[in-house]
Formats: sequence, structure tokens, C-alpha cells
Amino acid sequence: TTLNKRRINIIIMYRPPIVTILGHVDHGKTTLLDYIRKSNVATKEHGGITQSIGAYEIDTGIKDYHTSKITFIDTPGHEAFTKLRARGAEVADIVLLIVDAKDSVMPQTIESIAHIKAANIPYIIIANKIDLPDAKPEKIKNDLLKHNIQVESKGGTALFMGVSAKTGAGVKELLESILLLSSDLNLTCELSNAPQAYIIETKKDKHGLVVHAVIKDGTLHTGDTIYFETKKTKIRSLTNDQGIRAKEVAPSTPFELLGFEELPAVGTLISTNPEIAAKPIVDVTPPKKFSIEDVLNTQTEKRLSVILKADVQGSLEAILNSIEKNKNVKVALSGVGEINKSDLFLAKTTKSIVIGFNVKPNSDVVDLAKQEKVVIKTYNIIYELLDELTEVSSLMKEKEESEKNTKGEAKIAAVFIIEKEKVFGIKVTKGKANIGDNVEVFRDKNKVGKTKIISLRQRAKTVEEVKKDQEAGMLFSPELDIKVGDVIKFIL
Ligand code: GDP
Repeated sequence: TTLNKRRINIIIMYRPPIVTILGHVDHGKTTLLDYIRKSNVATKEHGGITQSIGAYEIDTGIKDYHTSKITFIDTPGHEAFTKLRARGAEVADIVLLIVDAKDSVMPQTIESIAHIKAANIPYIIIANKIDLPDAKPEKIKNDLLKHNIQVESKGGTALFMGVSAKTGAGVKELLESILLLSSDLNLTCELSNAPQAYIIETKKDKHGLVVHAVIKDGTLHTGDTIYFETKKTKIRSLTNDQGIRAKEVAPSTPFELLGFEELPAVGTLISTNPEIAAKPIVDVTPPKKFSIEDVLNTQTEKRLSVILKADVQGSLEAILNSIEKNKNVKVALSGVGEINKSDLFLAKTTKSIVIGFNVKPNSDVVDLAKQEKVVIKTYNIIYELLDELTEVSSLMKEKEESEKNTKGEAKIAAVFIIEKEKVFGIKVTKGKANIGDNVEVFRDKNKVGKTKIISLRQRAKTVEEVKKDQEAGMLFSPELDIKVGDVIKFIL
């Protein structure tokens, strides 16, 4: 389906969506993936022999949409999902959130919801196991309301479907919904673009280092020199999910690639263009020790965002009840259990800090936290936890307030004594300053005093206002002991 032919060699095409499945353990992720794989046309044509390469593409044979094909990522679950995302990779276009219609919403369902919301990826909710007599898909809809998900029949917009991964009931409708949603999303690619492929799995076998990836834009060819992170290698061979050697792969094909001399990380972007390949690398400068300053730096929002893990439900609820009263703190996720890697990935994407109560991260998790620069704090006493949260959140609030009220900033460049008056030579670095403005004086980021602008001059002439990048002479009252190098802020 050619959308547009701008020039002979530039062809924008619709590409199949890349879909991943999230949900609680045993809710049927693997069964659904298997059912879809086995019942699709392409697989049957090749005698059902498929190679596991981390993802597979099917042709639904459904003709009414931009594409009839769908690529499914084969490793379900939010751990794999967030591992891809934490490196900046947006591999999946659509998420299927699978919920057992007999068990309804469970802890990992809630975690999955948090991950989907953080990723801001379109999703479809699937009530699975509708073949069971005690299946209650309606209960799922009500339970989801508690997690701010409103399905269509409850006045919301979330897509909701019932299926049985075992009997296949509703699966065709599900595939059609995926195609409809992806047509709405207008997923396109350009074959002549520099390729962008994401590594979804890596392993070592008798062929050497094997990398599984999906391509989202452009075309990759055997023999291409490809870049990943800051390294490069040559593609020795490409194999598709039917186990067939290919000269080239195009979006959204999953493929196996040989030619690596060292294994790249899952989530890494591969391209023939080194600039594209270099883009999503996570900065791994060594971590500092935890400090309030670090927390303030990770947070870009007004509220302190936290992921809370506790050893038992009782403590968790007690802590949550207290936190809810603090308007400056937002809980991105809470749960009972160990601090695990997927908590860190979520912390990274939601810019949260991770708080453990009576739970400690294991050394793997600590290492990853260092690498991903996620702050973890653990406590054994509830009031200490709450006190520190209050302290940090009010500091954030203060910082935000002061930024909101600041109309400009300047640096003291010189001090002159003119006719017995102390005149400060300043350069405005942000915003502007006017006569009469209140001024806060900062030395090494600490506030050292407050004063007021009583006179403002440029080249011996009095002016009303100075703006960014302009220099001026200022008189303050009170005069204070302001020094060269001090920063002054003009307050509204
Ligand atoms: P996962 O952990 O989410 O991958 O779940 P699985 O796919 O392993 O499924 C867990 C169990 O539920 C297995 O015993 C499946 O046979 C069963 N199961 C999955 N889907 C269905 C379904 O639609 N109906 C019924 N009755 N059982 C199902």
C-alpha cells in the first residue's frame, strides 16, 4: 500500500503494528501468543515450522485496513517491556493488557497499567478465559475503574474485548481491533530512510552471538555496516521468523542477525547511520551518594513522584494513607514485595524515587539503580519515612515557588563606588529587572540576603528596565554586603 511517491526512490508505506502483551502471571499471555501464532496464515504455509526469534509476524488476511499484518513481541510481561523502554526504545506501538476474567485485576495487572500509562502507548484490554463458566468480564471493567481506566461501555475510551486464548473465541475480532487501532495511529515507514531496528533479545549459540531485532523504519541488508551504541559491525546474515535467510528486511519484520563480536544490550538501536544509533544511549556516569539534591534533580514535576514497596499489606496501606494527605507527593506505583528491576525501569520512565519499607533491594537491583541513576531509599520506621518525604516534597515545593516568582536573574560582575554610593555592575542572565524590584541575593546557591533596586542605570542614564544579556548599574537599599560573583534574583 503506497501512500505517496514523492520521488522515485522515496516511498512512504504503512507498516504493520508491533504489539506486546502485558498482564498478571497465568492470565494467559503465552497461550494467546501461541494461539495467534499457530492459527495465522503465514505459519501454515511453511508447515508450521517457526523459529523463536523474540517476535513473529502474522498475516491476518483481513483486508480493510492499512495493513493486514501484525508483529507480536514474543516475550510478554512488563519486565521485558520496560527493559526495552528504559533505553529510550519505543519498540511496541500497541499494548494488549490481558486480564483473567475469573481472577480479574491482580497485582501485576496494576503494575502493567502503571507501565502502560508511563509509556503513554495505546492499549487494548483483553478479558481472557471467557470460555470458563465462572468468567466475569464485567467485574474487570468495574475493577479497572479503581485504577482510572474507563472502558467504552462505562463511558470511557479504553478498548475492551473478551477472548478465549484456549478456544480462540474472539481472537479474530481482537486482531481486527489491532488493525483498526493501528490504522488510526497511521504507522508509516520509508524504505529509503536510514534503518532503525531495535534489539529485543540476544543469545550465544553454536553460530556465535545471535541478536534478535525488529525493524521500524528503513531497510537493512546483508553486508551492511551497522552502528550500535558507539560501535560498529558488519551484518553477516539475516534470517526472518520463518527461519528463511533474507537479503534484506523491512518494517516491521522481526529478524535474526549474525555478525556481532560482543553482545549489545536489549533495547539498543541499530542503524547504518551512526548518529541515529548513538541517540538513545543511556548516560552511565558513576552515581553519587543519595542526597536531597539528587532527588530534586531527578524530579521535573512539581510533585515528588514515588514508587513504594513494603513487606506487608498492612504497612503499605498505613503509609499510603499518610502519603495521600500530602498533596506534594504522588505515588506512581505501590505494592507488596521486593524492590525489583521493573520498579527501577518504571522509576526511570516516571522520574520517581523508589522507597522500600522493610524491604531491601538485592545487589543486582542496586547495581542497576546505580547504572540507571535511580534513587532508592529504604526505611524500617514509618515516621522516618514520612518525615523525609515531607521534607523533600516541601523543598521541591519551595524550589518551584521561588522559580515561579522569579522574573529575572543577574550576576554581579563588578562593584564601583561612585559619589560615595556603592554601584553594582550586573549582567542580566534571565528575564528582566525593573526599578523597585525586590531582590534576593545568592552566594553558592544559598540565599544570603534580601534587598530592593532603588536605581537602575545604563551608560549613566537612568532606565526603567533591563533585559536578558544587557548590562547595567544598580543601587540597592539596603546596600548589603554583595560581592562579585553573587547571583541576584528579581522577585515578583
Ligand atoms: P501467562 O503466565 O500469562 O503466560 O499465562 P499462560 O498462557 O501460561 O496461561 C496460564 C494458564 O491458563 C494455563 O494453564 C493456560 O492453559 C490457561 N489458559 C490460558 N488462556 C486460557 C483460556 O482462554 N481459557 C482457559 N480455560 N484457560 C486458559
